[in-house]
Amino acid sequence: MLCSQLWRRLSIPRYRAQPCKTLLRRFSSPPPPPPPPEMGKKPNAQPESSPAHPKDEAYLETVIPKRIAAFESIKAQQLAHLQSISGDPIKITLPDGSVKEGKKWVSTPFDIAKEISKSLASNALISKVNGVLWDMSRPLECDCELKLFTFESDEGRDTFWHSSAHILGQALEMEYGCKLCIGPCTTRGEGFYYDAFYGELGLNEDHFKRIDSGASKAVGEKQPFERIEVTREQALEMFSENNFKIEIIKELPEDKTITVYRCGPLVDLCRGPHIPNTSSVKALACLKASSAYWRGNKDRESLQRVYGISYPDNKRLKEYITRLEEAKKYDHRELGKNQELFFFHPLSPEVVSSFRMVLEFTTSWWNLSEINTGIEDTKRL
Ligand SMILES: [Zn+2]
Repeated sequence: MLCSQLWRRLSIPRYRAQPCKTLLRRFSSPPPPPPPPEMGKKPNAQPESSPAHPKDEAYLETVIPKRIAAFESIKAQQLAHLQSISGDPIKITLPDGSVKEGKKWVSTPFDIAKEISKSLASNALISKVNGVLWDMSRPLECDCELKLFTFESDEGRDTFWHSSAHILGQALEMEYGCKLCIGPCTTRGEGFYYDAFYGELGLNEDHFKRIDSGASKAVGEKQPFERIEVTREQALEMFSENNFKIEIIKELPEDKTITVYRCGPLVDLCRGPHIPNTSSVKALACLKASSAYWRGNKDRESLQRVYGISYPDNKRLKEYITRLEEAKKYDHRELGKNQELFFFHPLSPEVVSSFRMVLEFTTSWWNLSEINTGIEDTKRL
């Protein structure tokens, strides 16, 4: 009923219709010109985005050897200590109820996987020991229940993507000398990102080739993920040049065990766990670069966030990229533009919706008709 009334009103113009004021405003008044730049200030200052941005060699020459030396020194001390207390027999119970024999502080989940099958040993990425996620190379400490996970499990995928963030972080640090902040797997369930501080540099797709190349190098070197435990003082000293990591360390609870992982030149503060080594990440690609504030606080440092995706083989990466491209075709923002449901007009500072234009025009006409014919809008009473 309402539709037929509306169309009758639109098709029988009994009075002179006035154009919608909003539409007039949009198409007849160009947007005001931008204010002139203030003297001495750079107009529209944007972060530098050249892919050839020079890396901070001085920072790298200071931090990389220092962290590696500290890591290796602490690792040697811990190994010597473990050898002095290790060797007692322990029992490892598997999900099917079977029990394996092992040695305290010596046997690792990887050793147990090897006893079960060669393929499990090469495909298992992470384990769970008495309910706690555990590196495949971390020695077992007591009698325990052990589960092993491959990429086909949530635990395996999350660990794979989190470990890939370290590979990405390594590439970013080595290529740009940036200060790494945090690098988790993404909460939406696929992929990972790494936030870092680059000063004036803004990253975009032009930088991806250089980053991908750095990541490929790390993968090709089959770098093991090694774990050590450090004291708060050791952690503060190890990361003294990175104010973001220092902030994280200072906020950790006093009784928290602080762990540091190394893969290749990257020594990173992280609770872990990780995949055994970088070689499992056969296919890795950068997806997107954007800005982010440290701690999500607009009053803090502006960071660059690089998103990535990785898989154990190229086939799955290609499938993922194809899925992304397909999803893009059905993105309502793209569909809207392609079907001219909305568009960008040169005189409009915002997106113009065709539907909204029709709606505003119709509403304007409707209101005028009520005024001209003396009909009161009972809905407003
Ligand atoms: Zn980590």
